[in-house]
Amino acid sequence: MSVSQLVTWLQERTALTILPENVLSAIAPLLEERTAGANQTLVKAETQPLGLYIVQSGKLESQPSPKFTPQTPQKLSPNLSLLPGSIINLQSLVLNQPTRETIITQSECHFWFINAAKMRAIIAKYPEITQVFSQQLAQELALVSSQLNFEQERAYILRPYLVTKARRGVIGRSRYAVRLRQQIKQASETRESVLIFGEPGLGKDNAAALIHFGSSQRREPIIRVDCSTLQTSGAELFGRANGKFGLLEALGEGTLVLNNVQELDEELRPAIAQLLKDNTYTPVSRPDEPPPPPKTSQARIILISERTVPELDPYVEKTIKVPPLRVRKGDLEDQVKYYISLICRGKGLKKPQVPQETIRRLQAYDFPNNLTELENLIRRAIVQLPEGQPLTEEIVWPSYNKKKQLRLNLLNTFPRLRRFLRSVWYPDRFNYWFVLPAFALVVAILFLGPQNRSENFALNLFWAWWWPGVLIAFPFVGRLWCAVCPFMIYGELTQKVSLWLFPRKLKRWPRQSAERWGGWFLFGLFALILLWEELWHLQNTAYLSACLLLLITAGAIIFSLLFERRFWCRYLCPIGGMNGMFAKLSMTELRAQQGTCSAECTTYQCYKGGPEKGEGQETTGCPLYSHPAQLEDNRDCVLCMTCLKACPHRSVEVNLRPPGIELWTTHQPRLYEVALLLLLLDVVFLHRLPEIQTQLGLNWNLENFWVHGGVSIAVLSLPALIPILAQVIMGLSQKLAAWLKPKTVQIKPRPFVESAYGYLPLVLVANLAHYLDLGLGEGGRLLPVMFATFGLNGESLPIAIAHPAVIDFLQGASLFVGSLLAVALTQKILRRSFWSLLPQHLAILGLTVCFWQLIV
Ligand code: SF4
Ligand code: SF4
Ligand code: SF4
Repeated sequence: MSVSQLVTWLQERTALTILPENVLSAIAPLLEERTAGANQTLVKAETQPLGLYIVQSGKLESQPSPKFTPQTPQKLSPNLSLLPGSIINLQSLVLNQPTRETIITQSECHFWFINAAKMRAIIAKYPEITQVFSQQLAQELALVSSQLNFEQERAYILRPYLVTKARRGVIGRSRYAVRLRQQIKQASETRESVLIFGEPGLGKDNAAALIHFGSSQRREPIIRVDCSTLQTSGAELFGRANGKFGLLEALGEGTLVLNNVQELDEELRPAIAQLLKDNTYTPVSRPDEPPPPPKTSQARIILISERTVPELDPYVEKTIKVPPLRVRKGDLEDQVKYYISLICRGKGLKKPQVPQETIRRLQAYDFPNNLTELENLIRRAIVQLPEGQPLTEEIVWPSYNKKKQLRLNLLNTFPRLRRFLRSVWYPDRFNYWFVLPAFALVVAILFLGPQNRSENFALNLFWAWWWPGVLIAFPFVGRLWCAVCPFMIYGELTQKVSLWLFPRKLKRWPRQSAERWGGWFLFGLFALILLWEELWHLQNTAYLSACLLLLITAGAIIFSLLFERRFWCRYLCPIGGMNGMFAKLSMTELRAQQGTCSAECTTYQCYKGGPEKGEGQETTGCPLYSHPAQLEDNRDCVLCMTCLKACPHRSVEVNLRPPGIELWTTHQPRLYEVALLLLLLDVVFLHRLPEIQTQLGLNWNLENFWVHGGVSIAVLSLPALIPILAQVIMGLSQKLAAWLKPKTVQIKPRPFVESAYGYLPLVLVANLAHYLDLGLGEGGRLLPVMFATFGLNGESLPIAIAHPAVIDFLQGASLFVGSLLAVALTQKILRRSFWSLLPQHLAILGLTVCFWQLIV
C-alpha cells in the first residue's frame, strides 16, 4: 500500500480521521505490518505500551483493568470486542501512561504497527495530536459524568424497592417441592414474563427472587413493587413525559416484580397488559399535552397474585402455581427444621430436638396462612421453650385444631397398650383360641342343657351377663364387643376356609344399595327378634336363645361367603347396628391423624391391607372398609386394630375424649338409626308388660298368643310417639310465635333426625336398668347354675347377688343420671335455649318417670 493509499485508509477506516492530513502523512510511512495468531496476549494491562497498533483484520477482546474501571454495585464493566480499524494504546502513548487494558486476539489478526519511541516522537513533533485528543477526552469525560449522574439517580429511584437476595430456596422433598424447583429453574433460563400464583403466606416473592438470582441477569437490579400502593396514573412505573423517569427506565435490564397483582387498580391494568404484551409503555403526560411516543422496556416482568386477574393472565408467558402447605405436608418436617435453625441462629440458641409426635400433630393442621403461620408458630414456641427441652407438641400446639381438642392418645400414654393391641393376642389369638370354642360350647349347652335360666348357665351367661355387660361397656369402650364377637369369627373362619377350598374372588360390596337399605334391614330384623324374644320367652327358653345366636351367626357366615370382608357387620347385623349407635356415646375412639395420612402415606395399608412395611404389619386391611382418618363417628369401627397394626407411620390413635363428643361435632344423623333408637326405647316397655298392666290396672290375656302379639306390637310402637309429639309441639309453638309476632325472627326447630340423638343416654340407661335385675339378681348365681346345668347340686356354692334395695338404688340412680345426660346432650346437639327445647326436655322427664315406675 502506498503512503497516500494508507492515509486514505486511515481516514476512511479509523478514528484517526480527526487528525489533519499532514499528520497522517507523517504517520503512514512509519507503519509496519504485523500478524498475531489467535489467543495471544497482544497488550498486557498496566505495562508500558510497546507501540501503537491499528487493527487491519481479525477480532480481539479487550479486558479493562479493574484499576482503571469505575464499578457500580449492580454492574461490572463488560469485556469489549475490537474490530478492524480499532486503535490500540494511543491514549497511553499520548498521556505517557501504562496500558489500561489487556488485549487478547480471538482470531488471527493483522495490524499496522509503530513502535513506542517513533510514535512518541511524532506526538512531540505534532502538538495537534495531543490537542485533538484532549478535546476528545473532555467529551468522553462529560459523557461519563452524565452517565454517573444517571446511575446515581437510578440508584436513588430503585433503592426503596430493591430486593437484595432470595431469602431461602424451596424447602422440602415432596413431589410438589421438586416440581416448584424445576419450574423456578426453567423460568430463570428465559426472559419470559411469569405469573406466580398461590395462597397468602407461601413466599411467592421469594420464588420471584429465586428466578431472578438464578438467571444470567442476576447482576441487574430486581425490585418489588406492591400493586396496592401504586398511583393510579402509573407515574412511578412509567415516569413522566419531559420529567422524572420511572422505575421501568431505571431498571434497565433488571427484573420488575409486581406483588399483589390482584390489588392492581383497574385503571392501570391495560397499561400493564400492554407492557406484558409487547414490552412497551407510555410515560405519563399532563392532560393538556399530547401523549409522548411509547418507550420500550428491557425489564423482565414477574407478577405475583393470590387470585386470577383476567385482564393480565392471557399475556403472561409462564405461570407457576405455588402449592399450599396443606397439600405438601410431607415437607413440613424439613420446613420446621429450617425455621428452627434460622430462628435459633438468630437468637444464638441451641437447636431443640423435634419429636415425631410434634411433626405429626403439625401435619394434622391445615395452616391457612401457610409458611408465614408455620414460621410464627415455631418462633413463638422457641421463645417459650426452656433451654435444652425438646419441642413437644404441647409447646408448639396450644389451641389450634379444634377437632383435636380434648383428646388424649392412650397409645402414647400407655405404650404397653400399644404393644398389646398390636400383638397377635389382640384379637386374633384370643378369638380363635378362646372365643371360637367357647361359643360352640355355649350353643351346645343351650341346645342340650336344661331349658330355663335358673338351671342353664349358658342361658344365664347370655341374659344376665352379656346384656348388662355390653350395655355397661358402650360408654367406655364403644363397639369393642364386635372385636371379639363369635358370630363374626365364625363368619371369618368360614370365609377363609371356603376361599382355601374354592379359590375365587368374593363380590365387591354393593355400597350404594347397602347404604340405603342396610340400616332398615337391620332395624326390621331387630324388631322381629324383639317380638320373637317376647312372644316365645327366649329369656327362659335355652334352645330358642341358641337359635337366636345361630341366626345372627348364619347371617355373618352367609354374607362372608358372598362378599369381601365383613359386609354383614358393616350394614346388616342388628346387634352391630345397636352397637354402632351406642358406641357414639363412648369416651374412647379410634382415629388416624389426617395430616400424617395425607402427607406421608401413599399405600393406605390400613384400608387396603398389604405386606409388612416399616413398622406396619402384613394385614388384609380394615374389615369394615373404613378409613381411620375419615371416621366421623364410632359407628363403623369395630376396634379390631387392624389399621393400628398395618399403619407404617404411627398415624392411628386410640383417644380418650369427652363421652359422645362426636354427637355434637362431626356426627352425621341417620334416619334408620333414629328408628332403631326409638325401637330400643320401646323395648324397655315391652320387657315390662306385666308392670304396665299392674300400673294401669289392666288384665290383658297375655297367655293368648294373638293378644300378646297385638299388645307387644302396640307397645313396641307407641312410646316412640312421645319424643315425636314433643318435636311436633316445638314446631307448632314456633309457628304460633311467628303468627303472634310476625316481625320477630323465629328460629325453626332442628329436624327430629338430629334431635332424637339426645335421647341416646336415656335409652341406654333404661335398657341397662332393665337388665340390672338379671345382672345383679341372677348373674352372681353362676356357679350353682353351672352345677345345675350338668345335673349336679351346687346349692352350697358361693353366690354374689345384690340386695333388691341396692338394685333399685342403682336402677334409680342410672335413670336419674341418664335423663340428666339426655337433657344436656339435647342442648349440646341442638344448641338452642333451654326454654325453646322444653317440650323435648319434658318428654325426657316423662319417659324417665315411666321407666322409674316400671323398673325401679
Ligand atoms: S356387627 Fe354383629 S356379627 Fe359383626 S361383630 Fe358386631 S355383633 Fe358380631
Ligand atoms: S396406613 Fe397409616 S398413614 Fe396410611 S392412611 Fe392408613 S392410618 Fe394413615
Ligand atoms: S378403622 Fe381400624 S379398628 Fe376400626 S374397624 Fe377398621 S381396621 Fe378395625
